[in-house]
Amino acid sequence: MRPVYHVIVSIGLSGLMVYWFRSWAAGVSCLLSGILIDLDHHLDYLFIRKKFPFRYRQLLDYCEKDPRWRPYLIFHSYEFLLLFWMSIYYFRLNEIWIAAALSASVHLICDQTVNPFKPLAYFFIYRFKHGFERKEILSDDHSDGVF
Ligand SMILES: [Zn+2]
Repeated sequence: MRPVYHVIVSIGLSGLMVYWFRSWAAGVSCLLSGILIDLDHHLDYLFIRKKFPFRYRQLLDYCEKDPRWRPYLIFHSYEFLLLFWMSIYYFRLNEIWIAAALSASVHLICDQTVNPFKPLAYFFIYRFKHGFERKEILSDDHSDGVF
């Protein structure tokens, strides 16, 4: 899902968090979490290309056209999300963390709904098991890399 849509969804969800928790901090946490979770795309780019993508176009070209593209995407995994929720429960973390986890969850569900990934591709273990290979991650009609 394109960043602008994540911003729109995160703003709406942040409003709900402010209303629900009566906390501006929870709203800000929600907004930042829903947007910044995509920084793992930048980390992947940095890891493979050894430089930081300062322009969105660079990142998009890398994901769509570069044969070296590997979606490690550590934050885009249900395992990470489960650990996040378990930490909130175990450490009895407050509404700021709950808002961040809710936003990350919604972000992942939106990505899962819109992006042309195979159904299990949002599990890190699945991607790892398949060597982070493009043809194993993208749905069959997008295995050429065009999103
Ligand atoms: Zn995303």
